[in-house]
Amino acid sequence: TFGFANNLQNQRQRLPVYKRKDAILFLVENYATTIIVGETGSGKTTQIPQYLNEGGWSDDGHVIACTQPRRLAVQSVASRVAEEMGVKLGEEVGYVIRFEDVTTPGVTRVKFLTDGVLLREMMDDPLLSKYSVIMVDEAHERSISTDVVLGLLKKIQRRRPELRLIISSATIEAKSIASFFRPSKKHRGAGDDVVPKREPAIISAEGRGFTVGINYVQEPVADYLQAAVSTVMLIHKQQAAGDILVFLTGQDDIDAAAQLLNEEAQSSDRSTGGLLVLPLYSGLSRADQARILSSSVTLQDLVFSPTPRGKRKVIISTNIAETSLTLEGIVYVVDSGFSKQRFYDPISDIENLVVAPISKASARQRAGRAGRVRPGKCYRLYTEEYFVNEMPAEGIPEMQRSNLVSCVIQLKALGIDNILGFDWPASPSPEAMIRALEILYSLGVLDDDAKLTSPTGFQVAEIPLDPMLSKAMLASGELGCSEEMLTIAAALSVQSIWISIRGAQKQLDEARLRFAAAEVSPSAPLYSPMLRTQGDHVTFLNVYKGFLQSGKSSKWCHKNFVNYHAMKKVLETREQLKRTAQRLGIILKSCDKDMQAVRKAITAGFFANACHIEPYTHEGKFKTVRTSEDVYIHPSSVLFRVNPKWVVYHSLVSTDRRYMRNVVTIDPA
Ligand code: ADP
Ligand code: MG
Repeated sequence: TFGFANNLQNQRQRLPVYKRKDAILFLVENYATTIIVGETGSGKTTQIPQYLNEGGWSDDGHVIACTQPRRLAVQSVASRVAEEMGVKLGEEVGYVIRFEDVTTPGVTRVKFLTDGVLLREMMDDPLLSKYSVIMVDEAHERSISTDVVLGLLKKIQRRRPELRLIISSATIEAKSIASFFRPSKKHRGAGDDVVPKREPAIISAEGRGFTVGINYVQEPVADYLQAAVSTVMLIHKQQAAGDILVFLTGQDDIDAAAQLLNEEAQSSDRSTGGLLVLPLYSGLSRADQARILSSSVTLQDLVFSPTPRGKRKVIISTNIAETSLTLEGIVYVVDSGFSKQRFYDPISDIENLVVAPISKASARQRAGRAGRVRPGKCYRLYTEEYFVNEMPAEGIPEMQRSNLVSCVIQLKALGIDNILGFDWPASPSPEAMIRALEILYSLGVLDDDAKLTSPTGFQVAEIPLDPMLSKAMLASGELGCSEEMLTIAAALSVQSIWISIRGAQKQLDEARLRFAAAEVSPSAPLYSPMLRTQGDHVTFLNVYKGFLQSGKSSKWCHKNFVNYHAMKKVLETREQLKRTAQRLGIILKSCDKDMQAVRKAITAGFFANACHIEPYTHEGKFKTVRTSEDVYIHPSSVLFRVNPKWVVYHSLVSTDRRYMRNVVTIDPA
């Protein structure tokens, strides 16, 4: 293992940031804010926290923090850094994501966390006093939490001049961030020569990327998924060795493409064999990985490990591989030109996660992934004409296209009352802000002066769930069904508790309906609409009960199309939420079979998502009560085709229509 460790050290020294190590440490010493620009793979995320650690920034019990917009990236970089430092993950190097804390207080010196978690930490420790340096990574992505964190850190810096910030970015968009951190005239002056200097420093760690040849399609493609699959097969047949990275948008199309590629690879002759198809997206469970690979090796192991001899890896990823994760050995990139993005319409109050065109900045990042090891090729599944004339230059910061309810309540909880006057890196729209205030007011979280109510407002803010679900949690305490609500909240926090296998949709639907009806009568015939009119939340309760009764058996899960690893996650999350509930004085009680209480509690949080069926239509069309939008029940819901009169939904997804996911019937008062 000594040779292995040596090898890792050599690798570290070959990274572009290594040459800038002393310069970086010098700037951090002397400037309050250091902005580091360097292309993906140059070593920003994995190396800089280690340099700071070596440079003494974690002495005297201080901690070095490094934030990431995504959970998967947090886990991945933390384990890599632990490996490079030769320590056990969770000791000197640890990570925290929502519902998962892998750190040891007093021992952990380098801590990776999502920026959402850092925001939550500010509620207990407003000045983040345990951190000596906070590195806000992937700042170019301009995620909503990154922007809020940047705004708050700027404030904290005035109170804690010794705190050092590092803002790292894969693109030069860093300039606008630099101007955000430049002290205004009012704050400049007298102390300009004191260390650390307030003026931000900028340093770039240039990589030595190889050239990437760009290929465009001649005609616009109708189906990017199919086009991506054929392009991969073409590369595999015609191009020299080298791994392929495909950018699609999300779990659905990634799984579908993986399936198609596996079928193609199996059905064709030797010349097209040897494809190792690896999906990569957040929320990909180990069970799914094992299933996809028909082995016990995890996907994460394979994605980052060298390609086996005679094989060609095809990694099919969301834009997580655009900048947050570095993959070695990629020579070909296939870019669909799309990603999943959030768009919020404050008028209809609907937030859609839609597949939307990426920006030129993203397209360049994606292409760059092909040039890390040698000259590469990028296949863009859109025309050159489109790229030049129509693709937007930059993306819109998430702050300007999101529902701001969670963001507003967190700022309020941190004592920031004048939210419209807050110093944002990018101002959100007043309409979205007003809508968020209205919703929080209607939840009883804000009072007439837009201050958090006591205790409701403070309690809702403290529960690490979105405010509507937190409110339902509080209500369940009063309605005597908090044990049930904990289970429901935990189940809603995992991607899906079901295993969906292509070609076995019917069996999965049947399993769901069995659970939907279980409480009413275990022997009830399936497809009897009367039995499943309670909804998906109640179904979760039956699955959870069945799982516990089975002795948490993975066999039981498998037989019932339930995702074992998701259920284990539900158990853990439920425990964490239970502790929060206890701390807040929520009375823990089960309502046993009284599902009415559960439905009432859900409604107390989600009344803004109430819908009623359109009478006289036969296609299951619903209207949202508040804004009269057309919505439909998602086919994955146990209420699909049942179409009760009144429902509330947990979330909406838009494809051809707006579909409600996780739906429960309500009895309007
Ligand atoms: P940056 O943050 O600048 O994009 P990173 O610090 O993430 O760069 O990556 C630096 C190098 O570390 C990469 O070139 C890659 O070789 C290696 N690396 C990063 N993460 C992993 C991992 N999980 N497994 C193996 N190697 C990794
Ligand atoms: Mg990085």
